[in-house]
Amino acid sequence: MPDLSRPVSLLCLFLALSCAACAQAPSSESSLVAPDWCRKLPRPEYSRLQRIPVHDTWFEVYSVAPHVLAIYEPHQWQETVMYLVEGSQRALLIDTGMGIGDLHALVSQLTKLPVIVVNSHTHTDHTGDNWQFSNIASLNTTFTRTSAKGSTDVRTEIESGKLCGALPAAFDPANYVRRPWKTTRLLHDGDTIDLGGRILTVLFTPGHAPDSLCLFDRKNGLLFTGDTYYPGPIYVFGPGSDPAAYQKSVDRLAAFAPRVRLVLGAHNVPGTPPEILTELASEFAAVRAGKLRGVKAEDGLMKYTGPQITFFTEASHAPSSR
Ligand SMILES: [Zn+2]
Repeated sequence: MPDLSRPVSLLCLFLALSCAACAQAPSSESSLVAPDWCRKLPRPEYSRLQRIPVHDTWFEVYSVAPHVLAIYEPHQWQETVMYLVEGSQRALLIDTGMGIGDLHALVSQLTKLPVIVVNSHTHTDHTGDNWQFSNIASLNTTFTRTSAKGSTDVRTEIESGKLCGALPAAFDPANYVRRPWKTTRLLHDGDTIDLGGRILTVLFTPGHAPDSLCLFDRKNGLLFTGDTYYPGPIYVFGPGSDPAAYQKSVDRLAAFAPRVRLVLGAHNVPGTPPEILTELASEFAAVRAGKLRGVKAEDGLMKYTGPQITFFTEASHAPSSR
């Protein structure tokens, strides 16, 4: 995959308040020019998916498997991808995106079933509209509990270089914050979420974030991987990131590969063949073993470009400095 989705200072994702590069006010001139990542959209993979028409132009919705919809935010540089998974009794919403569009209204159009939200992890780009939902299942980690208190570190996400087109008319940029939410069910590794005729298993996969999890629909071979894998540069840096834990997590996912039909990540494009799971584990092992040569990137990061996957880690985590 080309590196389309990460055109700005990488640490801004985690250091949005303090990142000088991101904190600069956009000039009126720059706001008229589409950023590079935006000019390269739409990604060609989407032409192969069935698009579901919806009224809200902030989101695009695609069918990716029977009763599984991908909800994509193409107008913001994170290009988050959420999933709405229906059983016969309940629907599972995996992640709630940036909190810029009215996700609750959209989901209400897409399903009449009661909705339970599970976040693939609680970084700001996956929890923005949690506050709109009353049924949220979460891991019981310190990181998760802190995230649930909300935060104001999202303002930089709506600067001109990070937007592709207009913000929704009902969105108020001046009051953009990540609002707090309440967890209504605690999740543990191995727990199952029964949607009625469809059961998803929770796999605790820390590394990208301390509360990263994957959800496995064993019967249908669907593995929802959040930011542990998506088609694009993988971030193993930032507060709470842990390369050793990430390695264990991707090794665990690689063991699932024979039972997976489709890998569904949380950015850029929904749907990658399962062979990527073994590749992910082996390429990151090569990073950690010093077999994949890294180059210095901005913000104190190292960039490792493997045969199929690019990783960013903190330079202090580079093999030579361990
Ligand atoms: Zn993310």
